[in-house]
Amino acid sequence: MTTWSLDEWEGKANVDECLVTYQLHITLQQAQRICVGRLAEFLFPVGNYLYTGSARRNLSARVHRHLSRQKKQRWHIDYLLMAPKTQVTAIGLFSETECYCNQQVNGEILLAGFGAGDCRSQCGSHLKYLGNK
Ligand SMILES: [Zn+2]
Repeated sequence: MTTWSLDEWEGKANVDECLVTYQLHITLQQAQRICVGRLAEFLFPVGNYLYTGSARRNLSARVHRHLSRQKKQRWHIDYLLMAPKTQVTAIGLFSETECYCNQQVNGEILLAGFGAGDCRSQCGSHLKYLGNK
């Protein structure tokens, strides 16, 4: 596993091919009511979140896309990341599967189904709330 701060990540174009899963460390400095596509409108509390996703190819391109504020909203996470008070603070990359990594996170599920549209491991959500500290 490797974790980069946002500064270290900037400009990184390639990562090791064995890395297929990413985790975004996300901070909300203010509670925000966000309409997450067709999933739900939800009031996300202040605090820290961890989102786990994967890309079989071009993992770094996927992460760069997540960090970009100019894009068409496609995934649940896009709605959260494009909200004004949302910040990505660090990025972790893993060779293990998305669901395995997600299940290692000791956090709370606030919004069931978030990012878990194609999850077959009963994760419940691929976004976990870590609390506010
Ligand atoms: Zn899963």
